[in-house]
Amino acid sequence: MTARILVIEDNPANLALVEYLLNASGYITVAATDGATGVRVARETRPDLVICDLQMPGLSGYEVLEELRADPTLARTPVIAVTAFSMQDDQIKVLSAGFNGYLSKPIEPERFVAQVEEYLPLDQRRGGGVA
Ligand code: MN
Repeated sequence: MTARILVIEDNPANLALVEYLLNASGYITVAATDGATGVRVARETRPDLVICDLQMPGLSGYEVLEELRADPTLARTPVIAVTAFSMQDDQIKVLSAGFNGYLSKPIEPERFVAQVEEYLPLDQRRGGGVA
């Protein structure tokens, strides 16, 4: 079963790029442009994976993660943080907060899908990505 991926991102250009890359590789995406909506959409759609921006107005990525982890139906869903921060300290903070992984902006279109797929079980990967 191909994964359904929720993308929570307040920057329209980044959101469009992430959805484009995932859709082009055959993944189904659902999107939210703020954290509170992201949490609600996660509850409604039970995605296989969540990609979440850290810096957003309203709920931050950290607060979104807390809400997801507190929900028994979403507690084990992989959540990847995407952030403009590139300091080593921030990576440690992100991972110790409970995110499964960390991707830095700017997004690298050639590598992005493969980076995301590392967090999906084999049977949910499209395989091959964009050739
Ligand atoms: Mn942002």
